[in-house]
Amino acid sequence: MHLGGIRTAPHRSRSRCVARSGQLGAERPWNRPTTRWMMEAHDRRNGPPAARRKVLSMSSMYALSSPAHYVQGKNAIAELGKHLSAIGTKPLLVADDVVWGIVEKGLTEGFEAASLPVVRVGFGRFATPEAVDALVQAITDGGHDVIVGLGGGSAIDAAKAAGHLAEVRWASVPTAASSDAPTSALSVIYTEEGEFIEYRFFPHNPDLVLIDTQLVAEAPDKFLQAGIGDALATYLEARATDRGQGLTMAGGRPTKSALALARLCWDLLWENSLTALDAVRSKQVTPALEAVVEANTLLSGLGFESGGLAAAHAIHNGLTAAPQTHGLTHGQKVNIGSLTQLVLEGAPTQEIEDFIVFTTRVGLPNTLTEIGLTAEDTAELRAVAEAATVEGETIHNMPFPVTAEDVVAALTSIEQLSRRVRAEHGLPEPVKHIAEH
Ligand SMILES: [Zn+2]
Repeated sequence: MHLGGIRTAPHRSRSRCVARSGQLGAERPWNRPTTRWMMEAHDRRNGPPAARRKVLSMSSMYALSSPAHYVQGKNAIAELGKHLSAIGTKPLLVADDVVWGIVEKGLTEGFEAASLPVVRVGFGRFATPEAVDALVQAITDGGHDVIVGLGGGSAIDAAKAAGHLAEVRWASVPTAASSDAPTSALSVIYTEEGEFIEYRFFPHNPDLVLIDTQLVAEAPDKFLQAGIGDALATYLEARATDRGQGLTMAGGRPTKSALALARLCWDLLWENSLTALDAVRSKQVTPALEAVVEANTLLSGLGFESGGLAAAHAIHNGLTAAPQTHGLTHGQKVNIGSLTQLVLEGAPTQEIEDFIVFTTRVGLPNTLTEIGLTAEDTAELRAVAEAATVEGETIHNMPFPVTAEDVVAALTSIEQLSRRVRAEHGLPEPVKHIAEH
């Protein structure tokens, strides 16, 4: 089957690269393609900020960025008004109808107590360039001074991007612990069909991230599963970035702090994920659920942004171009990326097998079948691998060169590998994913 419409990261101008290479020296770690592209993508829109110029002018800088304030707990949504009133006086709330139906009552009571007006606009499915521009218009028309993305990663990413363009402050209020989007100073922009277009970078992180764990407990378990898939990649990618002396989205090398946070994320997930999923299936907030929410939201966010992205997310981005994967969550596709990264690394067999067993128990895909592909789909796998290894992708943060051939081989191998490991552990066979159209 022909795989059309592959989108790749934007290519930068050759002359500009040459100028920077000459200026900075080609061997410096911060002059690697990945970060150079990230910085240039940012600089095209914003001009190099002072902090970034500083990074560009000095080698081996370490950087960490984080939101100004993080609030997590049962019924936290009732406190949103109190926390927002420290940021602005006229918030614009971005939420689709389903999310709004869930948060409206608790949120409104808190807003009234804080004397804040309740103004909400709806939201579609993806953070597309058009969705972002429409929010910028809504901010301008309503004279808002802070924008609040409520719900899933797309509404949050669109709100961040719009807040930046409209030059107002922004806050993230996830209603599920399903991705690492809420805390970061960047948005991922997609097409209407959900294909990756670009990362957009902002000069600062959200002023506030607030997550109500009762809402997480009442959300479908697939959201928490997705967040676990996204968060498990954090440590694997930070470790690879550190080994390769790569750079992170925070604009420097990973700090020891970021690596420790990424490791804590990993440990909390292995310890608490299965019991946290039980809690969600019972709609209850437990200490295990609080731990996994913190791992999926705060630690995964800080960890990916300041610890580094590598192969797992690049392979995710490549997979978004395959129509067979449409309808899968970010975390499901990232999990395929994580396992593929472990294979690419030649990780110890035990580590790989443990990962397959654990993620199967969590309910995450670790075979091609579960993302709608087969090992025989060579054209599609090649296209995914080409997109994952395009110049500037985070896969080039790996501590060794990675080609499209390498990715095809690793991706193809996970089908047989996971099927064998699952069978040996009495775990269920994979069920084929049928893409939504
Ligand atoms: Zn992610």
